Amino acid sequence: MIQNRIEHLIKNWIMTERNNHGKIEKLYVCELIWPGPHAPIERWVLYREYTPAIDENQIQNEIEILLADEKYFGNCDCCGKKMIQGNMCDAICHACMEKHDVIF
Ligand SMILES: [Zn+2]
Repeated sequence: MIQNRIEHLIKNWIMTERNNHGKIEKLYVCELIWPGPHAPIERWVLYREYTPAIDENQIQNEIEILLADEKYFGNCDCCGKKMIQGNMCDAICHACMEKHDVIF
């Protein structure tokens, strides 16, 4: 269950860029920006650049570090799920806030 949640986060909010040899050179993380109450804008931020490029085993490690980085990800105090910060308001995720009738 928790593993699925992490895979979902990686799939949606984390991106790698490979060079011509299939090695990973860059790691990006998505930030959500809310210009209005609905429809957030996704902005991809370069998190790390690797010279020399790294392989699959090494990137797993880097992704774990990124997922633990509170600048980009947090854990909801209410449901306990890990979220990108753009889907949280302080320590509570938007889904939990909606349950409590707060409209975004
Ligand atoms: Zn929550």
